[in-house]
Amino acid sequence: MAYQGGCYCGEVGYELDLDSPEEARTSICHCNNCKKFFGSAFGLTTKVPKDRFKITKGSTKEHVSNNSSASKLYREFCSTCGSGILEYGEQAASRVRYVMTGTLDDPGELPPQGEFFCRNREKWMPETPNF
Ligand SMILES: [Zn+2]
Ligand SMILES: [Zn+2]
Repeated sequence: MAYQGGCYCGEVGYELDLDSPEEARTSICHCNNCKKFFGSAFGLTTKVPKDRFKITKGSTKEHVSNNSSASKLYREFCSTCGSGILEYGEQAASRVRYVMTGTLDDPGELPPQGEFFCRNREKWMPETPNF
């Protein structure tokens, strides 16, 4: 089944082509790096096999940063409106993409199944039930 997504301004569009929703895994990340990039209290990404993601419209701009672990972190975003589209770490570059879940046309179709960096969870944010 195909899941459509794109950036805020509409210049970048993409598609996830999955055999089933189980091929994707959405997670909340409370790390400070995600807070900065997402401009939010947490990051929300959906992990998919690399070959299941394809850009269908426009193109992304890439930003490379050094993680605290000293491995490179790649992020791609719309150069016009700034929406984050995806990210991936150097080690998994050939295998997976973490798509910014909020850029899916219907983010609710792939709800989160896990959390990372819970020690950095904002104090006002409740623990997510049933993980
Ligand atoms: Zn855009
Ligand atoms: Zn994070």
